Amino acid sequence: MSEQPKLRIDWIACNGYGVCEAAAPDLIVLDDWGYPILPDGPVPHDLMRQARKAINDCPMVALAWESRQTLTGGRLGRLRGRRANP
Ligand code: SF4
Repeated sequence: MSEQPKLRIDWIACNGYGVCEAAAPDLIVLDDWGYPILPDGPVPHDLMRQARKAINDCPMVALAWESRQTLTGGRLGRLRGRRANP
């Protein structure tokens, strides 16, 4: 059984126009300012199609799948690598 993925948002890139909510109305709701509120946990299997559409439709490429690489990669990963290999 595979683990269901989670969504994440790059809040710096997000413009808050809510295109993702229109693409995934059963998964994403908007706050009072129009910014998306994502589900706490993994995307339910029956909503994966909506999640993919929301990612693909996001005009700012702010919405993506969260992955282990995201959590350990990027700047944090480089900092850890630098610390481990001075
Ligand atoms: S579609 Fe993308 S940029 Fe627009 S509100 Fe959703 S996450 Fe933010």
